[in-house]
Order: sequence, then structure tokens, then C-alpha cells
Amino acid sequence: MPISGKRMMDLVKKLGFERLSTYESETKAAEMLCDEIRAMGLEPTVETFLAPHYEIKDVKLEITEPFYKEITCTGYGFSGNDAKDGVEAEFVYIEGFDPIDLYDVKGKIVFFTGGMGVSAYESLIKAGAVGFICTSGTFRDKLAESDLEERTLRDKHTEHGKLPGVTIRMKDALSLIPKHPTRAKITLFQEEGEADSRNVIAEIKGTKYPDEIVVYTAHYDTVPFSKGYFDNSTGTAMVMELLRQYKDNPPMRTVRFIFCGSEERGLLGSKAYVAKHEDELEKIRLCINLDMAGPILGREMANVTGEESLCHALTFYYKEIGYPMTVRQDLYSSDSIPFADKGIPGINFFRSGAHGSYQIHTRHDIIDILSAESLAKTTNFIKSFSDKVLNAAFFPIERKMPQNMVEKLDKYLLKKKDNK
Ligand SMILES: [Zn+2]
Repeated sequence: MPISGKRMMDLVKKLGFERLSTYESETKAAEMLCDEIRAMGLEPTVETFLAPHYEIKDVKLEITEPFYKEITCTGYGFSGNDAKDGVEAEFVYIEGFDPIDLYDVKGKIVFFTGGMGVSAYESLIKAGAVGFICTSGTFRDKLAESDLEERTLRDKHTEHGKLPGVTIRMKDALSLIPKHPTRAKITLFQEEGEADSRNVIAEIKGTKYPDEIVVYTAHYDTVPFSKGYFDNSTGTAMVMELLRQYKDNPPMRTVRFIFCGSEERGLLGSKAYVAKHEDELEKIRLCINLDMAGPILGREMANVTGEESLCHALTFYYKEIGYPMTVRQDLYSSDSIPFADKGIPGINFFRSGAHGSYQIHTRHDIIDILSAESLAKTTNFIKSFSDKVLNAAFFPIERKMPQNMVEKLDKYLLKKKDNK
């Protein structure tokens, strides 16, 4: 049975709804993936794990002096409930997070542009700020054609405490700041806790070396307001298609297919998988992660999180078959990272969209920029490269992580910061 772009696009279409970590919508998507696997005659395994869950119940931003204005905002998830009954304080605009920017923020509500970084959050808490207002979007955004991003803090942010915050539109910020607001009031009430998210897993046992395992990962969750066609129904559909292919023709080595939940919340599904399967990680030789493919206009890419020799092997192969692509030794911010952190080499195949031809993480992640043909092209390449690895006489990739990648991983996972 040949690889079918149409079959993959059908699944991409089916998954065309917001699929939020820990929400019913993500569970619904997981069930659809299970149905798809069962329809092939295989039985999926569902592994649930706890992920942070929040629900904003009340959020409001008011400028109270020298004029009154309510500004549309979204609450920052997991930023606590210190402003549950409203926090009113002096308003201060800071242009950065250097000590000079922060010398006079104590007891104030701080406004800055962009999103909230981990060290910025820590420095605001240490400087004694009582709330924050940040921005999202661009000056060009039209109200009717854009959503105001709802952001969340992660574990690393809140190690030093919590500070309530909201996000406003860049457009509103541009008209607000010249009017010199001096006092503001943030009201933010949210439920914070944990709820289930899930990984959906299927496996085809190897015919000759069942204890040598290659895992294929793809996340199926989305961020708020995105239907996640490109990011990442495409990778999900490709992993499903590869499962179908290997079900019909089992390779010599075991292939395991992991559809990860909660990637958009910080790779939580793949982290949970690696933590739960600690005792069998030694058998996993390679992680092939698929996150975003299928744009009509784009470029075939592979980020190799592993030895440089693996880049050379891929380069030899694409040249051999005349398949233009770019191979780099680097991380890819997706589900291969927790595996790489355990020393398992990762290949992240993706098709990067041509500049201006796509958008992710917004309502503009639409299906029209994708094609069945593009999806099939990338999947065919991955399948033919995989076949070589899975049916090699001797496993051709050493299970080893070079020092330069270890350093990048540590930095990405903020390990260095922890040790400080
Ligand atoms: Zn993604």
C-alpha cells in the first residue's frame, strides 16, 4: 500500500479543532487517534499523566489615574491569585530587565513589551513588583481578524513565587503609553491545579531485533485559538501513516509510535513518557520526531540532535537520491528533546514553510497552506530513510549524545540555571 497524502490530509481535516492540554478537546483528539489505530486492527495504549491545569475565572485591567480606561486583556495562566480582589498600584513602564530598569518598581504594576521570560519573572518578584502587564501581537492586528493570545507561566517561572499578570494587545499599548497612565488595577482570579493529559501509543514488534526500538513522536495538542493544522496535525497524520505502513510490513526492529499530549505546555507528554519508561530507555536507539510538514511552499529540513556523523549519513542519503534538503546538527523545540536528554539521538524531520506562506499558534494556522502532495513527499522520504535504519544489518546510529548537544540541551532545559 503506497503512502497516501490524501489519507493524511483527511486526518488533518478531522483534527481541525482547538486541542488544549488538559481540556476535553485534547481528550477528544486522543480518542480520535485511538479510533484511527483500532480501525487498522491494532490496539492503542493510552498513558495518562498529570499536567498543570488552569481556568481563568475573572480578569480585568483598568487604568485608574490620571484617567479611567478599561483595557481588553487576557490573564496569565498560573500567575496566582494575589489579584483576586484587585490590586491597584502605581503604573510604571520598563524598557528592559536590567537593574537600572528595575530600581524603582517596588510596590508597582510593571508594564513591558513582549512575553514573560523566566529570569525576567524572577527579577520582577525580587524587585518587589505587585503585578505585570505585557503585550502580544503587532500594531497591524485587526480586531476582527486576530485573537489576543492567552499565555501561561511554566514551572521554572514560579520557583521564586507568583506575581499576577495580564497580556494586552500591542495596538492598545501603543495608544496607552503616550497618555502617561500613572495608576492601574489588575483583577485576576483563576483556578490552578492539575488534570489529565494523555499520550497515545502503538507498536509494531521487530521481526529480528525486537529489543532495538525506534520511536516516532508527534504532538497532537494545540495552543489556544489555533486549530493546529500545520502545527501539528500534519506530524500526527504522518506518524499515523508510518504506523499503517509498518503494520503491513513489519521491519526488523521494533517501531513505536507515540502521539504526545501537552507539547505546547513545555513538552509535557514526551517528558512524562521518558519518566515513566526509564527502565526501558536503554532499548530506544533513535527518536524520529515529526512536528510540522505539508506546506505547499517550503523547504525540506532535518535537525539532528545527535552525532555529526548522523548528519553526514543523512546528507549522503539525500544526495544519493537527489532530494534537496537542509540538514543541521541542532535541537528542535519539540518532543525529541526529553529523549535526547536521556542520550537518545533524535532526528526532527520537518518542512519549513516559505516566509509569508504560513502562520502558527494563531487562528491563521489554516489548512489552505497545506497540500497532500507535500505531506506525501516528506513522508516518503522519512519512510525510505527509516527503512534503511530499521532493516540495517547492524544498527547504524550510535546511542550517544555529543558534548555540544548536551550543552545545548542543558541550556534549553534550564539545567544550568537550576544548579546555580
Ligand atoms: Zn508543534
